[in-house]
Amino acid sequence: MKKIRSVLVFLICVTALISADQIQTHPEQSSVYICDSTGATKYHLTSNCRGLNACDHKVIKVTKQEAYNKGKKELCGWED
Ligand SMILES: [Zn+2]
Repeated sequence: MKKIRSVLVFLICVTALISADQIQTHPEQSSVYICDSTGATKYHLTSNCRGLNACDHKVIKVTKQEAYNKGKKELCGWED
């Protein structure tokens, strides 16, 4: 009986870990839009942001981490 209980606890822990992982990798929470230009320093939450209108390069969708790696470390001033 004790063994069954520990198996159940193990399963609950694994399920909790999997769902926590899904929340963290949710695309809408981690994706941002950036102007793929070396001069751009900001990232945007929407692809039709006013700040991206001035972009004369390609607007690309990346994760927040990728944006940071490309030097886009600040949220655009036009965002809410
Ligand atoms: Zn913006």
